[in-house]
Order: sequence, then C-alpha cells, then structure tokens
Amino acid sequence: MENIINNPNVQNKSEEKDNIELPLTETDYNQIEVENTILKIFKEHGFSTSTSELFSGKASYFNSIHYKYAYNEIIHLSSDYFSLISGFPWICFWILNILEFSKEKNFDMNLDLKLKFVDVLKELQNPEGGFYGFVKGSSHLISTYAGVMSVANLAIPEAYDLIDRKKLKEFLLKMKNNDIEFKQKNTFLDKNNNFLIYHKDDKNNCSKFFTANPGSFENHFNGESDLRSIYCALTSAYILNIIDDDLTKNVVEYIRECQTYEGGFGPEPFCEAHGGYSYCAIASLILLNSLDKINVDAFLRWLCMRQMTKEGGFNGRTNKLVDSCYSFWQGSIFSLLKMGDEKFSFDDELLYDQLSLQAYILFCCQEENGGIKDKPGKYPDLFHTNYASSGLILSMECLVDHCKVALSNELEKELGDKKHNPIFNLEDEKVQKCLKYFKMKDNDKNNEEKKEE
Ligand SMILES: [Zn+2]
Repeated sequence: MENIINNPNVQNKSEEKDNIELPLTETDYNQIEVENTILKIFKEHGFSTSTSELFSGKASYFNSIHYKYAYNEIIHLSSDYFSLISGFPWICFWILNILEFSKEKNFDMNLDLKLKFVDVLKELQNPEGGFYGFVKGSSHLISTYAGVMSVANLAIPEAYDLIDRKKLKEFLLKMKNNDIEFKQKNTFLDKNNNFLIYHKDDKNNCSKFFTANPGSFENHFNGESDLRSIYCALTSAYILNIIDDDLTKNVVEYIRECQTYEGGFGPEPFCEAHGGYSYCAIASLILLNSLDKINVDAFLRWLCMRQMTKEGGFNGRTNKLVDSCYSFWQGSIFSLLKMGDEKFSFDDELLYDQLSLQAYILFCCQEENGGIKDKPGKYPDLFHTNYASSGLILSMECLVDHCKVALSNELEKELGDKKHNPIFNLEDEKVQKCLKYFKMKDNDKNNEEKKEE
C-alpha cells in the first residue's frame, strides 16, 4: 500500500485528475448568473459579504409599502375566489403575518377587518375537525396549521372561540400513524420499539411503507406523511393546549429517521436533506425538548453550509440557488438551536453571518412597489414576503439584552422592537396570549367540573 502511495507516477495521475476541467452544467451557469447579478447589486450599495461588519451605508425595510402590498391582497379573501385557491388558510396566515411585520408602532388592525378574517376562517373549518384548504374540501393538516396560526395572529376571543378544539384533536389523532389499533395498520416497530425498515406485508410498496411509519402523521386521509405534518400537528396542538402523549408518541424516533447522511433532514426517511423539512424537524424537536436525540454536529455543519458566501442568503439544498424564503426556513433554525442551548451562539451572535442575510433580503429581494421576491429577476409574492420578513426579524437577534444585530440604524428603528417566535412563526406576544387564553379556559372548565362533583 505504502509503495503505491509513494509511487511518483500514481501521485502525478491523481494531480492530473484534480486538474481536469469538467464541462459546466446548467446549474453552474445559473449559479454564476445569479452570483454576478447579486455582486453587481451589492457593489451599487457598497456592500460585500466578506466585509459585512464594515458596512456603513443605508439599508431599509420598506414597512409602509409592504403593509399596503399585503393589505391590497385582502381582496382575495372574497368568496368569489373560494373555489379558485386551494390554500385559503395560508393566504390568511401570510397576509396577517406581513401586516404584523410591517405595521407602524402601536398600530393595530381594526376590529371589523379582524372579524372579516374570522368569518373566512369559520367557513374554512371542517365540522368534522381541522381546516380545509378551500371551502368544502377535505381537512388537511397543513391547512389546519395555517388556520390555527391565523386565529392566534388575530388574537381576539371571537377568533379563538371559532376553533372546535375537540373535533380538531380527533382529526389530529385520525391522522396519526402510531395509533395502530385505530388505523388497523401493521406495526413498524419491533418488540424493543426499534424502527423496522421494511413493510411486513408488502416490501415493494414504498408509499404504503412510508405513510404508515409510526410517529408520523398523514397530511390528509390516505395522504402522504412527512415532517411537515408532524410540525403542523404538534404546533397546532400545542398552541391550543390539546397536546398529549397520544400525539407525541414515537414522533422523535420518526424525526430521527429522517436525518440524512448530509446532516440535514429529508421529508421522509431516505430522502434528500431540505431546508423546509429541516425546519419542521428542529422546531418539533425543540417543542418536545429532544434536540439531543439527533446528530446535532452533523446537522449544524449542513446548516452552516447553506448560507451562500457571495450572495449572503441561504439555499434550501446542496447545489441549489439562493432563495429569500430560506431566510426563515434555514435562518430561523439558528435561533431555534440557540433556544435549545445557548452554546449554539458565538460572541453573543448566532452561528451565521446575520448582516449578509439582511443585505441579501433588503438590497436584492425587496420590490419598490411592495413585496419581497425569491431572488432578483423574480416577482414578489405573499409567501416570500412572509418568510423573508420573518427571517429578517430573527436575523437581528443578539444575545445581549436590548442590543440588535442590524445592517443600519434605520433597520434597527424599523424592526428592532419586534419579537418573533421561531417555533410558531408568529409574533411572540401573540403566541403567549393564545397559550394563556386556552390554558385559562381549560382551568376554568376543570374547576367547574370539580365543583359539580
Ligand atoms: Zn422560495
């Protein structure tokens, strides 16, 4: 062996191999084009990711313009659109979040408008539990999360009380895959509760195998199961104070199976690591206080590699282009990890270049007429405006009290006082208010039942 390594001919061959010029792929060309566009924009603003801390120019979040942009989208909540859009609860969620991010200090949406959202959400709730994606469809876990978080965002009793929590809990349990007797499904755990990697009856039917993994949830009846449905089920149940062992049983084990050789999490076991699914995994683990059950070092390495060195923003997967929505899907995970353990920070800051992310969002993705886009050359939409804005607010986090990591003084004035909850993707005060409301309601009910006894 040693002879082979020391043989000069062999060494030359390997050097030769390293120097081979491989042809550029379409992905390479796209990457070069995006990089060049962004470097040009950064140059115009006097910014460079390699010297982000030295930036002293102007950088602003267009509050009032984004507010108007989201406000104008409320028209889509009209019943004329009900049959056209399959993600109605999502439109409510994104609009309400953007209005919250971009509103002026101490301003609150008027009650009539909030009640209009309440009416829309009432229509979207399935009497059998959960929320439809569109009126009179079937309940969907992802739509249910958006419906519940919209209610929490409205933060008024009329909104809280519209949710039928008993029916919603029943829906969540129906979607849960580990209630094997209820679903009459085969078990995928052995006697010691270890995960089995084959299907007892049908080894070749992958979809049957994946949908039945214990600990996972189906997104809808007979639908696919993945990390999104776990996140949506747990956060909805938690904020409504209906979470219990039946819902959380085997969840951590399932999440662990979704961690890939790269370190990130795929949607299901044996899939490619992806930013959105990784967010769902880590937020769920933080909620269950189980971050220590995965390989955090491998995960952190994968996560840090997702911030693009020249563009400052994040991509969602290895070898993909930068995209502003990953400012939240990837960026918020650094805040989540720090929530789990303060060791996931350095010098009172988070473990990524927070200023470069801010520069990418503010200089490259904001539209002057309102809204935020994925990357230069694309059009703004509610989805990217919501996730880029929440990622931006979270990127200002500093571990020192009353101190912010901000690219400019204007940005600190505009968004420095916002406190965002990375687990639920909602303003933190609204999360606390919702939790308190349902806990008090349940306490009162328990006390009354005790009195009757
Ligand atoms: Zn995107």
